[in-house]
Amino acid sequence: VKAVDYNSVSEEKEIVIHIAPPWYATAGAQIIYIVIVALLAFLFAMYVRQRYRSRQKMMEHQHAREINEAKLQLFMNIAHEIRTPMSMIISPLGKLVAADEDPGRQKSYHVMKRNAERILNLINQLMDVRKIDKGMMVLKFQEIEIVSFVRDLYTYFEYQAKAKNINFNFYTDTEAQCLWIDPKNFDKVIINILSNAFKYVRENGIIDIHLAVVSKSNEKDNLHACFEIAISDNGIGIKEEEREHIFERFYQIRNSYNNSNISTGIGLHLTRSLVELHHGKIWVENNEGGGSRFIVRIPLGSAHIKKEQVEDNPDLIQRQERPVNLSINADTKLQEKNRSKSKYRVMVVEDDEEIRQYICRELSSDYHTAGYVNGK
Ligand code: ADP
Repeated sequence: VKAVDYNSVSEEKEIVIHIAPPWYATAGAQIIYIVIVALLAFLFAMYVRQRYRSRQKMMEHQHAREINEAKLQLFMNIAHEIRTPMSMIISPLGKLVAADEDPGRQKSYHVMKRNAERILNLINQLMDVRKIDKGMMVLKFQEIEIVSFVRDLYTYFEYQAKAKNINFNFYTDTEAQCLWIDPKNFDKVIINILSNAFKYVRENGIIDIHLAVVSKSNEKDNLHACFEIAISDNGIGIKEEEREHIFERFYQIRNSYNNSNISTGIGLHLTRSLVELHHGKIWVENNEGGGSRFIVRIPLGSAHIKKEQVEDNPDLIQRQERPVNLSINADTKLQEKNRSKSKYRVMVVEDDEEIRQYICRELSSDYHTAGYVNGK
C-alpha cells in the first residue's frame, strides 16, 4: 500500500489480508460434497443393478408363464381330444343299458357309464375353469323360473338318494320365483354342491335343499334383494379354518372320504367362479344338525346384467344333457319301438368320422339322414 499526495509518494507498506473461505467452500464442505457424490453414484449404481435384476426376474417370470401356458394349452388340447372318445363310450353304453335286460350286465354297464361320466365331467370342469381364467366364459342370462329349475335337479339326484338310503328333502318358501341366470352354467353350481353333499354324507344321512327369497343383506353377501339356495348335509362337516380354502383351486381336505374317490379340488373353485359371474355370493357355514351348509345367493332382477349378456334366443336353449338313470331308460326303449320314420331329412355336419356315423345311425330310425364333413 502506498499513499500518493500530488508529487510526493509515501513508502510502500505491505499488508497481508487473509480471506477465510465461505462455509460452502471449506475443506469440510468439500469432503461432504465428495461423500454425497460418492453416495449418489453408489445409489445410482444400486438402482441400475436393481432395475436390471427385476427386469431379469420379470423376463424369467414371463418365460415361466409362457412355458406354463404352453403346457396348459397342451393339456387342454389333450383333454379336449379325450372328450370325443369319452362321449363315444357313454352314448353307446346308454343304448346297451336300455337294450340289455340281463341284471348282471346291467350292473357292469352302470359302473362303466358312471365312471366314464365322471371323467367326462372332470374334463368339462377343467375346460370351464380354463375358459373363466382366460375371460372367455361369457354367460348368457335369461329369466328362469328358479323353483322348478332346482326341483328338476332335485329329481335328478333322487335316484342316488334312494340307492344310498339318504333322506333327501326339497323345501321352498315360495312356489315360483323368476331369476336371471345362465341355465347352462347355473345347474353346474347346484350339481357340484349336491354331488359333494352326497359324497360326504354318511349312509342314512340327511340332505336338504331350501329355497327362499331374502330381502335383507348381511355382512357376507352385501346383496339386497336376492334368491337363496341353501344345501345342507349332516355329513362330516368342514372345520372353521378350512372354510375359505375349499373354494381355492385344487384345494382338498385330506380325509378318508376323498382319498378313495376321483377327487381334484376343482369343483368348488368352479362353483364359486360361476356364482361370481352371476354376481352372486357363495359361502359355507355349520349346519345346525352337524355337517355343512352351502349358501348361494343370486341377486333378483336384471339391473346388474349387461345388455350383451342377455340371451337373444331363450327358446332355443336346451338344458344340458345329464346322465340318465336306469329307471328312465326302460321307457325310452318302449318309445323307440313305436317310432316310425318321419318325413324330415336331417343333415349331420361333423368332422369326426366316427361321431358323424354314430349320430346318423342314432337318428336313422326317425329321420332320413345325410352326413357331411363340413358346412361347405
Ligand atoms: P373335490 O370334492 O374334488 O375334492 P371340491 O372343490 O368339490 O373338490 O371340494 C373341496 C374340498 O371341500 C373337498 O376335498 C372336501 O374335503 C370339502 N368339501 C366339499 N363339500 C363338502 C361337504 N358337503 N362336506 C364336507 N366336506 C366338503
